[in-house]
Amino acid sequence: MQVDLRSDTVTRPTPGMREAMMAAPLGDDVYADDPSVNALQDKIADLLGFEGALFMPTGTQSNLCAILAHCQRGDEYIVGQMAHCYRWEGGGAAVFGSVQPQPLNHQSDGTLLLEEIEAAIKPDDAHYARTRLLALENTIGGKLLPMSYVQQAAELARSKGLALHLDGARLFNAAVAQAALSGTVVFAEARRIAQCFDSVSVCFSKGLGAPAGSALCGSRELLARAHRIRKMAGGGMRQSGLLAAAASYALDHQVARLAQDHALARHLAAGLSGIAGLVVEPPQSNMVFVDLVGPAKARAAELLPFIASRGVVASGLYRLRFVTHLDVDAAGVAHALSVMREFFAT
Ligand SMILES: *Cc1c(COP(=O)(O)O)cnc(C)c1O
Repeated sequence: MQVDLRSDTVTRPTPGMREAMMAAPLGDDVYADDPSVNALQDKIADLLGFEGALFMPTGTQSNLCAILAHCQRGDEYIVGQMAHCYRWEGGGAAVFGSVQPQPLNHQSDGTLLLEEIEAAIKPDDAHYARTRLLALENTIGGKLLPMSYVQQAAELARSKGLALHLDGARLFNAAVAQAALSGTVVFAEARRIAQCFDSVSVCFSKGLGAPAGSALCGSRELLARAHRIRKMAGGGMRQSGLLAAAASYALDHQVARLAQDHALARHLAAGLSGIAGLVVEPPQSNMVFVDLVGPAKARAAELLPFIASRGVVASGLYRLRFVTHLDVDAAGVAHALSVMREFFAT
């Protein structure tokens, strides 16, 4: 049995998604006449409450277009040290846009302290870059940002004249986790989170299970700038309705099921926490982080090759990451647990 727990990006399109792709009416999106792209953009914009959306090849390009649409050369964005759009995107905003990041350390719940955000905002003085944007991520490292925190951060940013961008690569995981806490509807929660921001980037290629694609949502004015940047970055695609149809299908059929990924992550975490030498963070969404301590840590280098030899792949070394998704079921999690137990029993 093969169980790939490295990332929720490894999902394959489901039969229903492939059918939707086959049936998609297509045009040329650079001429803005691909009906499937236009339909997806309208759908995600309506769902999240924005004037419009732009379909993007990747989440990285979506964040880049957002940051460069909000900021000019010599401007600055405040962002978390572990945020994808600071740490994991090759420094694109600085490289392509001459936009300086101002990274801040995260608290253990993934938030950035409001006082530290405020203190990082530069005065209007020729010595400093112009602080223009606050970029948050939700979920971040699998953690749901508390709604009250998101609202306070948004209020702070507005009061200081900063724009707000959300890297919502896993916005729907956040919405599912939040809906479970508050007993409300997933799409309503997604919209409630998104509405705190001026722009939101959503990935369809993570837990939603599409083969590729993200959407950047925002005002018409912001998207007009982002559209030009997307073109410069080489992201003007043609019959991209094939991919947009997969994303639309995911929004229609594969959002509610994220709750199963979260349940399986909790199940996996509970099982792993019974193994001596593993310290397991209780998961809030579809990611389980596990620290190896004591004698277990000394064997870290052997662990991943061992479990891989039994069909289970994960990532990390002293801190392991297991991600549940569309292509992992209860039997897969049970197999992963038995292989992990086998390793530590030997
Ligand atoms: C994956 C991811 C991205 C980027 O997506 P790509 O499509 O891989 O470029 C951005 N932000 C977060 C939080 C992500 O997890």
